[in-house]
Amino acid sequence: MIDFDQARQLMVERQIAGRGLHDPAVLAAMKRVPREAFVPKQLRDAAYEDGPLPIGQGQTISQPYIVALMAEAACLGKHDRVLEVGTGSGYAAAVLGEIAAHVDSIERHRLLAERAREVLQQLGYRNICVHVGDGTLGWPRGAPYEVIIASASGPDVPPAWREQLAIGGRLVMPVGRSRFRQYLVCVERIGEEDYAERKLAAVQFVPLIGAQGWNDSRDQDG
Ligand code: SAM
Repeated sequence: MIDFDQARQLMVERQIAGRGLHDPAVLAAMKRVPREAFVPKQLRDAAYEDGPLPIGQGQTISQPYIVALMAEAACLGKHDRVLEVGTGSGYAAAVLGEIAAHVDSIERHRLLAERAREVLQQLGYRNICVHVGDGTLGWPRGAPYEVIIASASGPDVPPAWREQLAIGGRLVMPVGRSRFRQYLVCVERIGEEDYAERKLAAVQFVPLIGAQGWNDSRDQDG
């Protein structure tokens, strides 16, 4: 029988702090969120392994290190309003919700969104709202957001997200035209029409499918 609490502490020490991430709020959040609750029952024993896991609908729960990397890069603060695109299992939403004031999370697969909503409710997260829809259009009624995080990769930053980012806000997403390799980028909105962009790391994510993303995964050149 696995001791999940112990496995989680070790995961944070080895996979996250051990790789140089150091934001105390992110490390504390990663120590609190029970990843085993977000993975399918038959995969629970693998919940603290260092990688993504399948969650159905051809989608995955993100690798813990990547969730932490994105949260740290976004410089999340406790008063921030966050838009997350690609709820998946709801795990990353929980990590973000541990730190920020409010999270709107959008998922295009209804089944995944419903499951994530249920788990998040059971765990007592009251500051996370899961919506079903095309997240490439953002969530205009919740904007502006201090932080926008996407865990699916698009060809470019969707214009709707640039508009819905608060001035001074940070957006972190994987961008690239290959299905196998993209770059995690962090975009900061410096002024009304002024954005600064930096590359963080090479990554591999599932495609962001929607009006301001890919039409269909076959469009990617791979
Ligand atoms: N961070 C999630 C977690 O911790 O479980 C994993 C997200 S998974 C890698 C990416 C998710 O993005 C998938 O569930 C996929 O259905 C979703 N997705 C792709 N395009 C989307 C879109 N336009 N709007 C909303 N969700 C989208």
